[in-house]
Amino acid sequence: MGVMIERLKTNRILDNDEFIGILETDRYDADLYAEADRIRREYYGTDVYIRGLIEFTNHCKNNCYYCGIRAGNENVLRYRLDKETVLDCCDNGYRLGYRTFVLQGGEDSYFKDKNICDMVYEIKSKYTDCAVTLSIGEKEKTSYQEYYRAGADRYLLRQETSNLEHYKMLHPDSMFFEHRKRCLYDLKEIGYQVGAGFMVGSPYQTYAHIVQDLKFLKDLQPDMVGIGPYLTHKDTPFSQFPNGSFHLTLRLIAILRIMFPYALIPATTALGTIAPNGRELGLKAGANVVMPNLSPVTVRKQYELYDNKICTGEEAAECRGCLERRVVSAGYQIVTDIGNVRKKKRNGIL
Ligand code: SAH
Repeated sequence: MGVMIERLKTNRILDNDEFIGILETDRYDADLYAEADRIRREYYGTDVYIRGLIEFTNHCKNNCYYCGIRAGNENVLRYRLDKETVLDCCDNGYRLGYRTFVLQGGEDSYFKDKNICDMVYEIKSKYTDCAVTLSIGEKEKTSYQEYYRAGADRYLLRQETSNLEHYKMLHPDSMFFEHRKRCLYDLKEIGYQVGAGFMVGSPYQTYAHIVQDLKFLKDLQPDMVGIGPYLTHKDTPFSQFPNGSFHLTLRLIAILRIMFPYALIPATTALGTIAPNGRELGLKAGANVVMPNLSPVTVRKQYELYDNKICTGEEAAECRGCLERRVVSAGYQIVTDIGNVRKKKRNGIL
């Protein structure tokens, strides 16, 4: 193993120029992937956790320049799923072996805290061996507290970028990095298992920004880290920018696994969209989670964050079968498990 990877493994952090040295070349890739896979096996064996993603609303008050469901996109056919439909999705998912349901949506003020709590509470009461993850953006701490009391276990909120200037290039003036950061720390304080992350190759992103994101994550110490390549959407102000790099995303997954040995790291849908075997290669680079879609097929195409999103035509059962084969082909297996973070190695060593 190269000296640099050894140093990353021991310190779980590097100096800025050392990080950049790894990011900008494919020279270390073989070492990185091998080390990442070794570590994931120490903590998680060959287990891959599945999360059933329910995209319950594509209404959003925000206008993020990269996102297909931004408020300003008038070409989106907007939808909301009611509680009964969400519960039907869970029902379907439970039978297919899902033990985590992720409720994701735009920032939709139609859903009051009470509605979210009702939904969470019903899912948790009906499926007592399941976790509920929320991914509904920036809220007040009191709201996060209420969802937590209603039974929500985890929360996904990517910081998107931790560089202030870069944040301003990706978002309108009404959005603030400091607020997003505050939310992440509030969520941790309340007791959620917290997920953060960023897009790889978003417009104007530099290697230095990525290093800043790695350091931000190091401070936050999240349980989950979600990254995926930035992908173009035709109806956004960024429609002329190219997609992020597939290989840089894989490299970063491996780096994250080495930095956060215990973490839950998904091989994301965006990774599967940019390359046909993207998720398989993501798993081999250190990812240990996949998040297939459980939303009704009738609305899937309308939750289009970026162009050409995969798996928008298949029923949940088909997705499950397809994924099973993909995971096995990569050398791992899907387990029916709530899939909480494992802070210890399998042999009990911290
Ligand atoms: N409203 C929620 C959910 C956002 S969608 C929230 O604010 O957290 C989930 C993630 O999709 C985002 O955090 C973003 O990182 C990613 N995403 C959005 N647009 C994208 C694009 N064009 N390419 C790749 N990923 C994108």
